[in-house]
Amino acid sequence: MTQIQENLSRVLDSIRAAEKKAGRPEHSVKLLAVSKFHPAESVVEAVRAGQCAFGENRVQEAVSKFPAIYEEFPNVELHIIGTLQTNKVRKAVQVASVIESVDSLKLLCEIEKQAAKLDKTVSVFFEYHTGEESKSGFLSFEELREAVQFCAEGNAPHVVPRGFMTMAPFTDDKALIRASFATLRDCAERLRAEFPSLPLTELSMGMSGDFELAIAEGSTEVRVGTAIFGERNYSVEAKHEN
Ligand SMILES: *Cc1c(COP(=O)(O)O)cnc(C)c1O
Repeated sequence: MTQIQENLSRVLDSIRAAEKKAGRPEHSVKLLAVSKFHPAESVVEAVRAGQCAFGENRVQEAVSKFPAIYEEFPNVELHIIGTLQTNKVRKAVQVASVIESVDSLKLLCEIEKQAAKLDKTVSVFFEYHTGEESKSGFLSFEELREAVQFCAEGNAPHVVPRGFMTMAPFTDDKALIRASFATLRDCAERLRAEFPSLPLTELSMGMSGDFELAIAEGSTEVRVGTAIFGERNYSVEAKHEN
């Protein structure tokens, strides 16, 4: 077994253990393997070990890696999880099936526009700002609600709103991290109740350092990079400028 395959198997074991501990059904939490800054060969290694869902932050990097991977492995699924500028939306919609970082109504409209042009349907998650440090996500519940309502009113027929995403604050304080996940879950519950016609089932929360806490708070998808692929080498950044 390769290092990546060993790591993957350990992470999956921990996810199953956390589901059990939280009294949640087995396989209620999906693993998104975050491959940013790691080469296509690492993705392929993970695919060979049975992993099929991947996350990338930057559209340019995704475009340089995934088309070749799709040719060999058509079932691979890619989620864009990083802040997305409107001028990158077309490429994002071409390369990914899910965009998890929808953080404004303007971005949502651009995704609808580009998906319509490409005659595609794209799944989206609404990213909500629940921590202190990070600046990404909708900053107010009202704005988040407005974007969800926009979908509920049928204004984005090429977009399927699947749920919500957040990043916990970067801290060792477990209570703060849990509070951030609990905030996302509460918002999701309110919006599901208000817009029952939408398939808002997903809660994307939890990363390498905090996915067990996220699962305890109801996460349905954890986004794990470092614990699978190892430390990222940011010196390759210049190659993939976004
Ligand atoms: C990089 C990244 C992750 C994975 O982080 P790790 O700590 O390496 O597991 C998860 N979510 C987002 C949005 C990221 O940018």
